[in-house]
Amino acid sequence: KPIIAFHHVNKIYANGTVGLKDINFEIPRGQFLVVVGLSGAGKSTLLRTINRMHEISSGEIRIDNEPISDYKGRALRQLRCHIGMIFQNFNLVNRASVERNVLSGLVGYYPTWKCVLGLFSAADKQRAIQALKRVSLTPKIFTRADELSGGQQQRVAIARTLMQDPKIILADEPVASLDPRTTKDVMDTLQRLNREDDITVIVNLHSVALARQYADRIIGLRAGELVYDQPIANVTTAD
Ligand code: ADP
Ligand code: ADP
Repeated sequence: KPIIAFHHVNKIYANGTVGLKDINFEIPRGQFLVVVGLSGAGKSTLLRTINRMHEISSGEIRIDNEPISDYKGRALRQLRCHIGMIFQNFNLVNRASVERNVLSGLVGYYPTWKCVLGLFSAADKQRAIQALKRVSLTPKIFTRADELSGGQQQRVAIARTLMQDPKIILADEPVASLDPRTTKDVMDTLQRLNREDDITVIVNLHSVALARQYADRIIGLRAGELVYDQPIANVTTAD
């Protein structure tokens, strides 16, 4: 049974731009899916409809066989808690410690003011250490975020999403600003979480070569349309 299913999904932005056009596909639980396509193809839009950062215009998205469009309030917060998201620019609080950034992943479980004031329990801090262990960054726990390399910052962002025990991680161009070495660290981290913790991972990438190294399956978007969908064994250099 798929963890995510798109059924005739269209997204037209308020200014008339077509974001997604009649998207139909299913993502099995535990898949490492890479979305490729040129800039403006709709990759980011696709990702953001899954946690409802963007609302679709028509069609249906199901997660665990439940349509998500009716979710409100608590149900919507819970949906977003179980879907981790990371971005190209990491979105960390630069002047705060790694620990504090990771703990801020508990926003959504706690009222925001509690996170702002840093009112975290010993159990929360233990969880943060565990999350940092999973991204191999425990030695950096008390370092300021902006003193880390880009790849390390992205792994902190991943650890922050792990605080919410996500079933799905959405990664929007997570390595676009990184060099090849730190790119590998970040992609290896996502791969390990996918394989060891059975987290379904969806990554937007520019590089088809990188996609081929990590993906179970690659889908391609062009002008909002799904134009390509292949399991990795069938992807050849001719594609
Ligand atoms: P990609 O991630 O593949 O670069 P996007 O999903 O960001 O593509 O964008 C798809 C299309 O939708 C582009 O034409 C883009 O300019 C447009 N777009 C994205 N976000 C918005 C928005 N909030 N309002 C209007 N148009 C948007
Ligand atoms: P959504 O409809 O998913 O909520 P928004 O309505 O928040 O998206 O987008 C708000 C406005 O931001 C858009 O109408 C557009 O004018 C502007 N905008 C944001 N990103 C882009 C983009 N990539 N291209 C064009 N316009 C954008």
